[in-house]
Amino acid sequence: MFHFDRVSKQYSDQPHVTDAPPILSDLSLHIPAHQFVCVLGPSGCGKTTLLNLAAGFIQPSQGRITFARQPINGPSPHRGVVFQDATLFPWLNVLGNVLFGLRHNGYSKNEAKKQAELALQQVGMQQHAKDWPAMLSGGMRQRVAIARILALKPQALLMDEPFSALDANSREHLQDTLLELWQREQHTVLYITHSVEEAAYLADRVLIFGPAPHNLHTDMVIDMPRPRLRSSMAIQKLTKQLREQLNQLPCCLKPCHRGEN
Ligand code: ADP
Ligand code: MG
Repeated sequence: MFHFDRVSKQYSDQPHVTDAPPILSDLSLHIPAHQFVCVLGPSGCGKTTLLNLAAGFIQPSQGRITFARQPINGPSPHRGVVFQDATLFPWLNVLGNVLFGLRHNGYSKNEAKKQAELALQQVGMQQHAKDWPAMLSGGMRQRVAIARILALKPQALLMDEPFSALDANSREHLQDTLLELWQREQHTVLYITHSVEEAAYLADRVLIFGPAPHNLHTDMVIDMPRPRLRSSMAIQKLTKQLREQLNQLPCCLKPCHRGEN
Protein backbone atom coordinates (compact mmCIF):
# COMPACT_ATOMS: atom_id res chain seq x y z
CA MET A 1 0.00 0.00 0.00
CA PHE A 2 2.85 2.39 0.89
CA HIS A 3 5.78 2.15 -1.41
CA PHE A 4 9.01 4.05 -0.78
CA ASP A 5 11.28 3.81 -3.76
CA ARG A 6 14.88 4.95 -3.13
CA VAL A 7 13.77 7.83 -0.96
CA SER A 8 16.22 10.35 0.47
CA LYS A 9 15.42 13.35 2.61
CA GLN A 10 17.66 16.20 3.60
CA TYR A 11 16.49 19.35 5.33
CA SER A 12 17.77 22.74 4.46
CA ASP A 13 16.43 26.17 5.37
CA GLN A 14 18.01 27.55 2.21
CA PRO A 15 16.82 25.82 -0.96
CA HIS A 16 20.17 26.39 -2.76
CA VAL A 17 22.14 24.57 -0.05
CA THR A 18 22.39 21.01 -1.27
CA ASP A 19 25.03 19.54 1.03
CA ALA A 20 22.91 19.22 4.20
CA PRO A 21 23.42 15.68 5.53
CA PRO A 22 20.63 13.32 4.54
CA ILE A 23 18.36 12.15 7.35
CA LEU A 24 16.99 9.35 5.21
CA SER A 25 19.14 7.93 2.46
CA ASP A 26 18.16 5.75 -0.47
CA LEU A 27 15.38 4.07 1.50
CA SER A 28 13.23 1.48 -0.23
CA LEU A 29 10.31 0.01 1.68
CA HIS A 30 7.04 -1.66 0.84
CA ILE A 31 4.19 -1.80 3.35
CA PRO A 32 1.33 -3.99 2.15
CA ALA A 33 -2.33 -3.26 2.91
CA HIS A 34 -3.54 -4.08 6.44
CA GLN A 35 -0.04 -4.59 7.83
CA PHE A 36 0.64 -3.17 11.31
CA VAL A 37 4.16 -1.82 11.16
CA CYS A 38 5.96 -0.46 14.22
CA VAL A 39 9.05 1.70 13.84
CA LEU A 40 11.71 1.84 16.56
CA GLY A 41 15.02 3.70 16.62
CA PRO A 42 17.13 6.24 18.47
CA SER A 43 16.02 9.89 18.57
CA GLY A 44 16.91 11.93 15.54
CA CYS A 45 17.32 9.05 13.09
CA GLY A 46 14.35 10.11 10.95
CA LYS A 47 11.29 8.23 12.23
CA THR A 48 9.08 11.32 12.30
CA THR A 49 10.53 12.33 8.96
CA LEU A 50 9.41 8.96 7.56
CA LEU A 51 5.91 9.49 8.93
CA ASN A 52 5.71 13.08 7.66
CA LEU A 53 6.68 11.85 4.20
CA ALA A 54 3.97 9.16 4.31
CA ALA A 55 1.49 11.80 5.50
CA GLY A 56 2.45 14.09 2.62
CA PHE A 57 3.41 16.93 4.99
CA ILE A 58 6.86 17.02 3.42
CA GLN A 59 8.26 15.82 0.11
CA PRO A 60 11.31 13.59 -0.46
CA SER A 61 14.51 15.20 -1.73
CA GLN A 62 15.02 12.21 -4.02
CA GLY A 63 12.97 9.13 -4.85
CA ARG A 64 9.28 8.42 -4.98
CA ILE A 65 6.56 7.54 -2.49
CA THR A 66 3.21 6.10 -3.49
CA PHE A 67 0.11 5.11 -1.59
CA ALA A 68 -2.27 2.67 -3.28
CA ARG A 69 -0.13 3.17 -6.39
CA GLN A 70 -0.77 6.95 -6.44
CA PRO A 71 2.03 9.45 -5.79
CA ILE A 72 1.73 11.21 -2.43
CA ASN A 73 1.49 14.91 -3.21
CA GLY A 74 0.10 16.17 0.08
CA PRO A 75 -2.02 15.24 3.09
CA SER A 76 -5.19 13.22 2.54
CA PRO A 77 -8.05 12.02 4.76
CA HIS A 78 -7.24 8.51 3.44
CA ARG A 79 -4.04 8.73 5.50
CA GLY A 80 -5.04 9.81 9.02
CA VAL A 81 -2.32 11.13 11.32
CA VAL A 82 -2.28 10.90 15.12
CA PHE A 83 0.47 12.70 17.07
CA GLN A 84 1.69 12.33 20.62
CA ASP A 85 -0.26 15.34 21.89
CA ALA A 86 -3.88 15.50 20.83
CA THR A 87 -4.48 19.11 19.91
CA LEU A 88 -8.23 19.51 20.14
CA PHE A 89 -9.94 22.84 19.57
CA PRO A 90 -10.63 24.04 23.12
CA TRP A 91 -13.64 26.13 22.01
CA LEU A 92 -15.44 23.12 20.50
CA ASN A 93 -16.90 20.25 22.48
CA VAL A 94 -15.96 16.64 21.75
CA LEU A 95 -18.60 16.19 19.06
CA GLY A 96 -17.71 19.58 17.55
CA ASN A 97 -14.06 18.55 17.32
CA VAL A 98 -14.95 15.43 15.35
CA LEU A 99 -17.50 17.25 13.20
CA PHE A 100 -14.98 19.92 12.25
CA GLY A 101 -12.86 17.72 9.97
CA LEU A 102 -15.94 16.11 8.42
CA ARG A 103 -17.54 19.45 7.54
CA HIS A 104 -14.16 20.68 6.25
CA ASN A 105 -14.03 17.62 3.98
CA GLY A 106 -17.43 18.33 2.48
CA TYR A 107 -19.72 16.02 4.44
CA SER A 108 -23.31 17.29 4.78
CA LYS A 109 -24.50 18.24 8.27
CA ASN A 110 -26.52 15.05 8.71
CA GLU A 111 -23.90 12.72 7.28
CA ALA A 112 -21.18 14.41 9.39
CA LYS A 113 -23.21 13.95 12.56
CA LYS A 114 -23.80 10.28 11.78
CA GLN A 115 -20.11 9.66 11.06
CA ALA A 116 -18.93 11.61 14.12
CA GLU A 117 -21.25 9.74 16.47
CA LEU A 118 -20.15 6.40 15.05
CA ALA A 119 -16.47 7.32 15.38
CA LEU A 120 -16.96 8.42 19.01
CA GLN A 121 -18.70 5.14 19.70
CA GLN A 122 -15.79 3.22 18.13
CA VAL A 123 -13.37 4.75 20.63
CA GLY A 124 -15.79 4.51 23.57
CA MET A 125 -16.38 8.26 23.88
CA GLN A 126 -20.06 8.50 22.93
CA GLN A 127 -21.01 9.45 26.50
CA HIS A 128 -18.67 12.43 26.33
CA ALA A 129 -19.90 14.02 23.11
CA LYS A 130 -20.90 17.22 24.90
CA ASP A 131 -17.83 17.51 27.13
CA TRP A 132 -15.19 20.19 26.60
CA PRO A 133 -11.57 19.18 25.92
CA ALA A 134 -10.44 20.79 29.19
CA MET A 135 -12.65 18.33 31.10
CA LEU A 136 -10.94 15.26 29.58
CA SER A 137 -7.97 13.19 30.70
CA GLY A 138 -5.01 12.77 28.34
CA GLY A 139 -6.24 9.30 27.35
CA MET A 140 -9.73 10.60 26.58
CA ARG A 141 -8.33 13.47 24.50
CA GLN A 142 -6.28 10.97 22.54
CA ARG A 143 -9.43 8.88 21.96
CA VAL A 144 -11.14 11.96 20.54
CA ALA A 145 -8.13 12.63 18.31
CA ILE A 146 -8.43 9.07 16.99
CA ALA A 147 -12.20 9.44 16.50
CA ARG A 148 -11.57 12.62 14.50
CA ILE A 149 -9.35 10.62 12.14
CA LEU A 150 -11.58 7.51 12.04
CA ALA A 151 -14.62 9.58 11.12
CA LEU A 152 -12.96 10.33 7.78
CA LYS A 153 -12.71 6.58 7.06
CA PRO A 154 -8.96 6.43 6.48
CA GLN A 155 -7.31 3.49 4.78
CA ALA A 156 -4.08 4.11 6.67
CA LEU A 157 -3.27 5.30 10.18
CA LEU A 158 0.02 7.12 10.69
CA MET A 159 0.79 7.35 14.39
CA ASP A 160 3.79 9.11 15.94
CA GLU A 161 4.26 7.87 19.52
CA PRO A 162 0.54 8.37 20.02
CA PHE A 163 0.26 6.94 23.52
CA SER A 164 3.67 7.70 24.96
CA ALA A 165 2.47 10.65 27.06
CA LEU A 166 -0.21 8.54 28.77
CA ASP A 167 -0.08 6.59 32.01
CA ALA A 168 0.50 2.83 31.65
CA ASN A 169 -3.13 1.90 32.22
CA SER A 170 -4.56 4.31 29.63
CA ARG A 171 -1.83 3.31 27.21
CA GLU A 172 -2.73 -0.39 27.43
CA HIS A 173 -6.43 0.36 27.04
CA LEU A 174 -5.80 2.48 23.97
CA GLN A 175 -3.51 -0.12 22.44
CA ASP A 176 -6.32 -2.66 22.73
CA THR A 177 -8.89 -0.23 21.30
CA LEU A 178 -6.54 0.42 18.39
CA LEU A 179 -6.02 -3.31 17.74
CA GLU A 180 -9.79 -3.90 17.71
CA LEU A 181 -10.31 -1.04 15.26
CA TRP A 182 -7.47 -2.18 13.06
CA GLN A 183 -8.78 -5.75 12.92
CA ARG A 184 -12.30 -4.57 12.10
CA GLU A 185 -11.51 -1.77 9.64
CA GLN A 186 -8.43 -3.35 8.04
CA HIS A 187 -6.30 -0.20 8.20
CA THR A 188 -2.67 -0.17 7.18
CA VAL A 189 -0.79 1.16 10.22
CA LEU A 190 2.57 2.88 10.49
CA TYR A 191 3.20 3.31 14.20
CA ILE A 192 6.28 4.98 15.67
CA THR A 193 7.17 4.11 19.21
CA HIS A 194 10.15 4.17 21.51
CA SER A 195 8.78 1.25 23.51
CA VAL A 196 10.02 -2.19 22.52
CA GLU A 197 7.23 -3.72 24.65
CA GLU A 198 4.63 -1.77 22.69
CA ALA A 199 6.14 -2.82 19.36
CA ALA A 200 6.22 -6.49 20.44
CA TYR A 201 2.58 -6.35 21.53
CA LEU A 202 1.21 -4.51 18.50
CA ALA A 203 3.25 -5.21 15.41
CA ASP A 204 3.02 -7.56 12.46
CA ARG A 205 6.39 -6.23 11.48
CA VAL A 206 9.02 -4.14 13.25
CA LEU A 207 11.40 -1.77 11.50
CA ILE A 208 14.39 -0.56 13.45
CA PHE A 209 15.77 2.68 12.10
CA GLY A 210 19.28 3.98 12.52
CA PRO A 211 21.29 6.87 11.11
CA ALA A 212 21.72 7.42 7.36
CA PRO A 213 23.06 6.15 5.04
CA HIS A 214 21.78 2.69 6.13
CA ASN A 215 18.54 3.70 7.85
CA LEU A 216 16.77 0.39 7.81
CA HIS A 217 18.79 -1.55 10.34
CA THR A 218 16.25 -4.33 11.00
CA ASP A 219 13.10 -5.43 9.20
CA MET A 220 11.48 -8.19 11.24
CA VAL A 221 8.19 -9.98 10.65
CA ILE A 222 6.43 -10.80 13.93
CA ASP A 223 4.55 -13.97 13.26
CA MET A 224 2.90 -14.29 16.65
CA PRO A 225 -0.78 -15.20 16.98
CA ARG A 226 -3.29 -12.67 18.35
CA PRO A 227 -4.63 -11.82 20.83
CA ARG A 228 -1.22 -11.62 22.49
CA LEU A 229 -0.59 -11.79 26.16
CA ARG A 230 1.64 -8.96 27.39
CA SER A 231 3.27 -11.16 30.01
CA SER A 232 3.87 -14.17 27.75
CA MET A 233 7.30 -15.72 27.32
CA ALA A 234 7.09 -15.10 23.58
CA ILE A 235 6.60 -11.35 24.06
CA GLN A 236 9.38 -11.20 26.63
CA LYS A 237 11.74 -13.03 24.32
CA LEU A 238 10.89 -10.74 21.42
CA THR A 239 11.27 -7.64 23.58
CA LYS A 240 14.75 -8.77 24.60
CA GLN A 241 15.68 -9.48 20.99
CA LEU A 242 14.46 -6.04 19.82
CA ARG A 243 16.30 -4.29 22.66
CA GLU A 244 19.52 -6.06 21.67
CA GLN A 245 19.09 -4.92 18.07
CA LEU A 246 18.45 -1.34 19.21
CA ASN A 247 21.49 -1.31 21.45
CA GLN A 248 23.72 -2.08 18.48
CA LEU A 249 22.85 1.27 16.94
CA PRO A 250 24.87 4.43 17.32
CA CYS A 251 23.12 7.59 18.51
CA CYS A 252 21.74 9.83 15.82
CA LEU A 253 21.81 13.02 17.86
CA LYS A 254 24.81 14.52 19.59
CA PRO A 255 24.91 14.68 22.57
CA CYS A 256 23.47 11.21 22.73
CA HIS A 257 19.71 10.92 23.35
CA ARG A 258 18.42 7.40 23.17
CA GLY A 259 14.80 6.72 22.28
CA GLU A 260 13.25 9.84 23.78
CA ASN A 261 11.23 11.09 20.83
P1 ADP B 1 13.10 11.04 15.08
O1 ADP B 1 11.61 11.14 14.95
O2 ADP B 1 13.66 9.70 14.73
O3 ADP B 1 13.58 11.47 16.43
P2 ADP B 1 13.17 13.23 13.18
O4 ADP B 1 12.66 12.70 11.89
O5 ADP B 1 12.24 14.06 14.00
O6 ADP B 1 13.77 12.03 14.04
O7 ADP B 1 14.46 14.10 12.92
C1 ADP B 1 15.59 13.61 12.23
C2 ADP B 1 16.61 14.72 12.09
O8 ADP B 1 16.08 15.70 11.20
C3 ADP B 1 16.92 15.47 13.38
O9 ADP B 1 18.32 15.77 13.40
C4 ADP B 1 16.11 16.71 13.29
O10 ADP B 1 16.73 17.77 13.98
C5 ADP B 1 16.10 16.98 11.78
N1 ADP B 1 14.86 17.68 11.37
C6 ADP B 1 13.61 17.22 11.54
N2 ADP B 1 12.70 18.08 11.02
C7 ADP B 1 13.43 19.13 10.53
C8 ADP B 1 13.11 20.33 9.84
N3 ADP B 1 11.84 20.65 9.57
N4 ADP B 1 14.12 21.15 9.47
C9 ADP B 1 15.40 20.82 9.71
N5 ADP B 1 15.78 19.69 10.34
C10 ADP B 1 14.82 18.85 10.74
MG1 MG C 1 10.11 11.67 16.30
